[in-house]
Amino acid sequence: MNGPELHALATRLYPICRSITGDGVRRSLAILGEHLPLEVREVPSGTTVFDWEVPLEWNVEDAAVHAPDGERVVNFQRHNLHLVSYSEPVSQTLSRAELEAKLHSLPAHPQWIPYRTSYYRRDWGFCLPHAVREALPDGNYRVEVKSSLAPGSLTYAECVLPGRRQDEVLFFTHVCHPSLANDNTSGMAVATALAQWVASEPRRYTYRFVFAPGTIGSLCWLHANESRLDRVRAGLVLGLLGDSGGLTYKCSRDETTWTDAVGRFVVGERPDGRTVPFSPYGYDERQLCSPGFNLPVGRLTRSFNGTYPEYHTSADDLAFIRPESLAGSLEACRQFVTVLEHDARYLNLSPKGEPRLGKRGLYGAVGGTSPAEREHAMLWLLNQSDGTQSLLDVARRSGLRFDIIRAAAAALEEAGLLGRVGEREEG
Ligand code: ZN
Repeated sequence: MNGPELHALATRLYPICRSITGDGVRRSLAILGEHLPLEVREVPSGTTVFDWEVPLEWNVEDAAVHAPDGERVVNFQRHNLHLVSYSEPVSQTLSRAELEAKLHSLPAHPQWIPYRTSYYRRDWGFCLPHAVREALPDGNYRVEVKSSLAPGSLTYAECVLPGRRQDEVLFFTHVCHPSLANDNTSGMAVATALAQWVASEPRRYTYRFVFAPGTIGSLCWLHANESRLDRVRAGLVLGLLGDSGGLTYKCSRDETTWTDAVGRFVVGERPDGRTVPFSPYGYDERQLCSPGFNLPVGRLTRSFNGTYPEYHTSADDLAFIRPESLAGSLEACRQFVTVLEHDARYLNLSPKGEPRLGKRGLYGAVGGTSPAEREHAMLWLLNQSDGTQSLLDVARRSGLRFDIIRAAAAALEEAGLLGRVGEREEG
């Protein structure tokens, strides 16, 4: 998918009222399933997963606050952020003062609707622009929340793309936010497009894409897959990938895994990329990198959660995410996969002095790059290929792009100057 196609997919997902359970998640996964072979899993309410329990399933038909004159002054049909997620059903009349305790707004951004949830404490509430709240007249307000909280299930989905090896690369994205574009339709769109691309390429590793609600959904997946987590060799949590900020790689808990080496390198290849240390806060890395699992999984994000004012408000809309940002995020994910797939160690088969490249026709043998870069890449490879250094190591040390190093290695191997001694596993 290109940038406009990624944005179009995010646009289809955006209006759906998602939460940690319910039909909004199923409808969203059905849309992703048009692009991918998805296996949908349902985990019944009440199922114990580690220290948590799958909650009752939540669905909403309608919700509104009716002003004294009868107008639907806060209307779920207009924007699903108006209703606090997991609001229990309610039908009652309140004074303006009583209603105040159930309202959420942002005085600093009086036109925006905040995003609020009450997953694990039974409650209800409405979110609205502060300017609308300030203008509410005195009088009696009729409040209707036509929701259901009933035994059902939590829904998540997996797309598994088998490779030559059972070792897995894991991509994880959350699917539990309602009408918020960067958080999380951007992650769903990029993960879907990445899986489509991986499916079309030959591959060494098995790739597993998980689309699950945050926290409880990732815990359900971990619980169901606990016995085979040792297959996970690398991975990324994908989220917040559509805003105009630079790409950020957030390290795994250990910060020294193969994922970390590749993640740091991939964002380092980009002029606007940066790496940040691990922290036990954020998205599914909170669960995947908890000490009982400690998976080698980092996170790819643009602007960090909580660091931009639009975060978790109605201003995180389809205008806030850009086609070119989505495309750049997808490109970084593809490069992450490319490095994982093609990193390898070589041995210089003519290590005594520099072999003569000219007589082997190696000047100009690698297309699409400038001669200086190509020659530098070959000299670096010949110098470093003592069997211990991988292509990624050579790229890092030389400052050259991985693609140039990889192409030069192929040319040197073809000429009989390099012999492949192993795939780079990890470390
Ligand atoms: Zn969020």
